[in-house]
Amino acid sequence: MEKTKVVLLRCNDYNVDIIERKLREGFSLLGGDEYLRKLIPVNCKVLLKPNLLRISEPGSLTVTHFTVFEAIVRIVKEYTNDIAFGDSPGYGDGLKAARRCGILEVAERYGVKYADFSETVHVVLDEALICKSWDVAKVAFDADVVITLPRLKTHALTYFTGAVKNQFGCIPGMSKKTWHARMPEVENFSKMLLDLNSVVKTSFSILEGIIAMEGNGPSNGTPHRMDTLIMGESITAVDSTAVRLIGYEDPTETPVLKVAKEHNYGPVMPSEIEVLGETIESMKATNFKLCRIAKFTTNVSPILTNLIKKLASPNPALTEEKCIGCGRCREVCPEEPKVITMVKKAAGNRPVWNLNKCIRCFCCQELCPEGAIVTRYTKLGKLLRLER
Ligand code: SF4
Ligand code: SF4
Repeated sequence: MEKTKVVLLRCNDYNVDIIERKLREGFSLLGGDEYLRKLIPVNCKVLLKPNLLRISEPGSLTVTHFTVFEAIVRIVKEYTNDIAFGDSPGYGDGLKAARRCGILEVAERYGVKYADFSETVHVVLDEALICKSWDVAKVAFDADVVITLPRLKTHALTYFTGAVKNQFGCIPGMSKKTWHARMPEVENFSKMLLDLNSVVKTSFSILEGIIAMEGNGPSNGTPHRMDTLIMGESITAVDSTAVRLIGYEDPTETPVLKVAKEHNYGPVMPSEIEVLGETIESMKATNFKLCRIAKFTTNVSPILTNLIKKLASPNPALTEEKCIGCGRCREVCPEEPKVITMVKKAAGNRPVWNLNKCIRCFCCQELCPEGAIVTRYTKLGKLLRLER
């Protein structure tokens, strides 16, 4: 069986000319101009989908770097002028997020249109893993070619966010949180993400990890230099390559790829993927701070297993001195009634969690503007954890 090709590139600079050259090298390995002509037929409608998780400064680890965006725009422009870009942040306005991080300025310079993700189209997915009925951003659904541009980051719920998870932004604004409420178990949430990718089909992924985010991702982690760009048509193959690079020996340790493998969603295992360019061994991180939740199973009783799993789960926890009392954590919590109550303290309003009701979606941790929420393990959780 022919293996799925992924290109792994070493790139240690955010200089746009260098990144452009690297991406061109990557496309050459896939077949060069002929390959690109097939990928981007003349004058087709291309949507570039960066990660604009929240309003962030240029160069922030939270969002796709604007020079990576510019580099791919330069290449795509040679094949079509009908290019748009967009995303729907977890909190706040997509246009503001694009402006603040520098992507809008690049887009305007090259005549790339901003696509508003708030208009939706209703789609029914007959062969769904879990979710048949969808309301997704119309521009993403209508595009001929979607090129997704994720940033390599850890994620408290799904451990890792890359090419598969990046399409979650195709669900407009705050309606994303209803999916968290409907799919509190990470396995179902992962199925939902794969279904979403069956609705909004990605033609190509460029995963940016020149400086990746480790630890308390996807918005408040710390930088880890990986000097990496990963390219390919298959979102699962690109993500699989990325998670192996950061230290998961088996890509199915990460929930989304586990579900993808179980349902034959796409190539996940190393035996199914041909890595062109650099080798994984030559670029592998040895000390990347992974997200990994304790695996605990027992044959004794499913009730006992679930109880121990619950007791071992990480909790959202506050770093008091960083909190500004804005209340966004409460606002984005998908549960009703809210798990978080804002309580008046000497320093101002502070969130307090009712952990018995918390579904551990970590939207509060993800969208806190100050990075004041971390995931914290219980003693039992620490004991059972494989890492950290
Ligand atoms: S924890 Fe974060 S989101 Fe919540 S009130 Fe404090 S600063 Fe705001
Ligand atoms: S408190 Fe935080 S982790 Fe818990 S359900 Fe609400 S948003 Fe999710």
